[in-house]
Amino acid sequence: MSGTVERADAIVVGAGLAGLAAAAELADAGKKVLLLDQEAENSLGGQAFWSFGGLFFVDSPEQRRMGIRDSRELALQDWMGTAGFDRPEDAWPRKWAEAYVDFAAGEKYSWLRRMGLRLFPVVGWAERGGSLAGGHGNSVPRFHITWGTGPGVVEPFERRVRAAAERGLISLRFRHRVEELVVTGGAVTGVRGSLLAPSDAERGRAGSRDVVGGFEMAAQAVIVTSGGIGANHDLVRENWPERLGTPPRRMLSGVPEYVDGRMLAVTEKAGGQIINPDRMWHYTEGIENWDPIWARHGIRILPGPSSLWLDATGRRLPAPNFPGFDTLSTLEHIMRTGHEYTWFVLSQKIIEKEFALSGSEQNPDLTGKDVKLLLKRVLPGAPGPVEAFKDKGADFAVADRLPELIRKMQEIAGDGVLDPETVTREVVARDREMANSFTKDAQVMAIHAARNYRGDKLIRVASPHQILDPKAGPLIAVRLNILTRKTLGGLHTDLDARVLRADGTPLPGVYAAGEVAGFGGGGVHGYRALEGTFLGGCLFSGRTAGRAAAAAL
Ligand SMILES: Cc1cc2nc3c(=O)[nH]c(=O)nc-3n(C[C@H](O)[C@H](O)[C@H](O)COP(=O)(O)OP(=O)(O)OC[C@H]3O[C@@H](n4cnc5c(N)ncnc54)[C@H](O)[C@@H]3O)c2cc1C
Repeated sequence: MSGTVERADAIVVGAGLAGLAAAAELADAGKKVLLLDQEAENSLGGQAFWSFGGLFFVDSPEQRRMGIRDSRELALQDWMGTAGFDRPEDAWPRKWAEAYVDFAAGEKYSWLRRMGLRLFPVVGWAERGGSLAGGHGNSVPRFHITWGTGPGVVEPFERRVRAAAERGLISLRFRHRVEELVVTGGAVTGVRGSLLAPSDAERGRAGSRDVVGGFEMAAQAVIVTSGGIGANHDLVRENWPERLGTPPRRMLSGVPEYVDGRMLAVTEKAGGQIINPDRMWHYTEGIENWDPIWARHGIRILPGPSSLWLDATGRRLPAPNFPGFDTLSTLEHIMRTGHEYTWFVLSQKIIEKEFALSGSEQNPDLTGKDVKLLLKRVLPGAPGPVEAFKDKGADFAVADRLPELIRKMQEIAGDGVLDPETVTREVVARDREMANSFTKDAQVMAIHAARNYRGDKLIRVASPHQILDPKAGPLIAVRLNILTRKTLGGLHTDLDARVLRADGTPLPGVYAAGEVAGFGGGGVHGYRALEGTFLGGCLFSGRTAGRAAAAAL
């Protein structure tokens, strides 16, 4: 411990997207801010840098141009049907949900545009649902990809923070790991923690955890923006809900190691309440990264709707568990099969149009704002990073004929579980449904319906064909693993982002935003998400926390 206590108006713990948004607002109000992060400067921006930059907007100009009719009412219906709020402690999360849908249908667009953020013109359709109108999923496409992906989302906020640092309002402190909130007379008055050894680890790679000293800082307001728990698999398993079956023994990590969840317990110890810890958002289409950046690094396939989805034995997953329809229903089903992985079986024609990989580094065209490279997406062949996975990925099998493909699948699985007859029966049965433009097969129906949306027809959904048609080949199989990502529960907060105690009253002096606060309220998504709502949730709750703290100082 250095012995001296540094002071500022506010301390922000975590320099990810939520922390940047909160700090920028505080500085705009003329407040002095200490912005701390346990990682080195080159990891500034946190997970958002690695993200695909997908943003949820409602009734945007891009949607209208694509012929999509959306409204606040439809979006709220989808949000509530998806969230399934059913607990007394969902009172604040529900209010956050209403406020967030208002934001996404209103000011969010012009606010971000004024800061220079631009969007790719074709709106994506994530979490299509597959049930009834009042149930889970997006009734219409709402997933807007930021031009520049994750780095494009971080850039305006980093710019604001760096400009405020130059004006002497924000002081950035890297390698500062907060381990305690200082409580004085029932109020949070500062932070204590360890100074970690300087690190030159590349962005996303874990810096050393060697401690070289301690620090203490004091402020009237502390804003916790430390992210979720996705890289802490022990904590994920500990909080795994019974409704999702047994916790997976093997998981890939969809987030860097600094998403360790430590600040949740730290804030709880100071008197803050954690709610909905059992709500989380993990993907079922994870593939091992052949070129990993962080430990157990997995990439999520953002799939179009045509791949055939089989369990480890070769049986088709039941409706509505089609690619891109209902993430958690699929996860629940998989964990009840007794095997933790599944398979996509598809054709070259499908992979070319329908495989997108989530992550800024997997989309050099969109991330680099490279129009020439982007135009190659409409040419024959899969995008470069997808082809690289096909060639080098441990989970991919490619073959001209089905028996050979199945042999390769069996080799990859190595557990003797896959039954060749079951796979053959499922593929052939599905292919027989392709002779007409009408069918009894719900997934095939969904493929036909998707192509009524111009964006899907243009770049996202392959024209209906038989998987075994040699002209569409070769055949491809991909083993899909469980991939950790988002934490939907977290610190309980009111609409001013003030952290609440177990009795529902605010714990004076402390605010929370972003993933650590379940993106607002302690669980704005309820049980499930509509996608593209996480980055926006960081921005909305970070902005709210920054403004509320500034007003209270
Ligand atoms: C590959 C990928 C793709 C994604 N795609 C999308 C998408 O398209 N759309 C979408 O909406 N969302 C997406 N997300 C999710 C979204 O990026 C994250 O949920 C969001 O960025 C979380 O931001 P945050 O600021 O809350 O936390 P983080 O980004 O995790 O930042 C928290 C920071 O706090 C620091 N920290 C933690 N504990 C401490 C401590 N004790 N002391 C000091 N510092 C600490 C960490 O080092 C980190 O820098 C994606 C995420 C990933 C990884």
